Amino acid sequence: MNLAEHLHQEFFKIIAETADRTKTKVFVIGGFVRDLLLHRPSKDADFVVQGSGIEFAREVAKAMGNNTEAKYFENFGTAMIRKGNWELEFVGARKESYRKDSRKPIVENGTLADDQKRRDFTINAMSLSMQKHNYGELHDPFNGLEDLEKKIIKTPLDPDITFSDDPLRMMRAIRFATQLNFSIDTNTFQAISRNKNRMSIVSKERIADELNKIILADKPSVGFKLLEESGLLKVIFPQMAALKGVEVVNKKAHKDNFYHTLEVLDNVASKSDNLWLRWAAILHDIAKPVTKRYDNKVGWTFHSHEFVGAKMTKTIFKQLMLPQNEHMKYVQKLVLLHLRPIVLSKDIVTDSAVRRLLFDAGNDVDDLMQLCEADITSKNEAKVKKYLQNFKIVRRKLKEVEEKDRIRNWQPPVSGEVIMKTFGLKPSPLVGDIKTAIREAILDGVIPNEFEPAYRFMLKEGEKQGLTLENNLINQ
Ligand code: ATP
Repeated sequence: MNLAEHLHQEFFKIIAETADRTKTKVFVIGGFVRDLLLHRPSKDADFVVQGSGIEFAREVAKAMGNNTEAKYFENFGTAMIRKGNWELEFVGARKESYRKDSRKPIVENGTLADDQKRRDFTINAMSLSMQKHNYGELHDPFNGLEDLEKKIIKTPLDPDITFSDDPLRMMRAIRFATQLNFSIDTNTFQAISRNKNRMSIVSKERIADELNKIILADKPSVGFKLLEESGLLKVIFPQMAALKGVEVVNKKAHKDNFYHTLEVLDNVASKSDNLWLRWAAILHDIAKPVTKRYDNKVGWTFHSHEFVGAKMTKTIFKQLMLPQNEHMKYVQKLVLLHLRPIVLSKDIVTDSAVRRLLFDAGNDVDDLMQLCEADITSKNEAKVKKYLQNFKIVRRKLKEVEEKDRIRNWQPPVSGEVIMKTFGLKPSPLVGDIKTAIREAILDGVIPNEFEPAYRFMLKEGEKQGLTLENNLINQ
């Protein structure tokens, strides 16, 4: 098979000419070839060079002209050239052998065939020639094309060797199966189960990277089911594995929270590409296993799972090396608040309850509503319809109250400075108490969210506390 007519980009020509001029054997390999055959868009291409990748890249950069951006990583023997939106990577063909206790291989120079053997999957091991005499010809030593057609992820060598050499490939198998909607060859899948404990030698960052790619796929549940079935989930993310299962007491069963969580995750994924909202879906019920109790009167309860879940969010983010920044705080907030709109939709919605939700959720209130709507996974259509209808009312109410009271990005109408100046106070807990009293009065609807009424309320509060008035900033 020859794919020359599909190599439209200008840089292919330059690379082919440089290969001819320097008498170097060069091949484009891996993800680019796979995606070309799958008609998926790409923006990077990897080139294997029989010889020095760096030297060849220097020649290519020269041929491309003065302002070509190129980086050379002497330690790794790789080079990267940026051309428009494209990242082109050049590496010398390698032969790798691994030791049992490390994923740092012993690397030697090799041929194209050696390089293809160290690739993770048959569909990722295909290459196209850049040589003049057979430009664009497909080299497919492991029948990757056939596996692409059959939609199968399979290792080129014995999977136990491929996975033991670099256990991250087990995550990659599941990631590609999820992204491409492929199945994993039985032999390859069984090897994942056998080698799952080897994941312990892989860095947490690389694992998180693959996990996030699974989460960002169109239907992330596919990946999580494979992670669970293979036993990998328990190794990398035991808290999520613990969601699986149904316990029955007195003939009363609770729902399987693993499959419920996956439904919520897919629901969110169908509406939003926000990785962190997807993480909130994954973690919203994470504390159900640890808060689960059976009560003879009411059956199964999961009291406070939202509070415990918010705490667990921080631990899990740390454990998985996910960022400990505002993204984590956002997920924590959504986990903590995920029951609030449901409570609102069940009761008669009062303005003050809506104001409190707006205050607590701030600008994330729309995301919270999305999460809550995704959380409705009942099989009973009438119920789903009713809940969604109730959420519509909550959304309308949120809009009305926000327009009136501007609570989303709430800033106290009376600042601590003003309180101190008015009563001649130094910074102290008392100032905080007065501020809290003002906030509560606004949220309860006792006073509107405006300076003058809040100031008058503050004066009364000060009086109650026995404070003397030093500066009055308004006319009484
Ligand atoms: P994506 O860009 O979606 O991550 P990709 O296949 O291009 O997909 P890269 O991680 O950029 O993924 O890898 C490029 C190529 O390098 C792969 O197609 C594969 O041939 C090879 N490769 C990457 N990681 C590994 C690995 N851990 N083991 C073996 N081969 C790998």
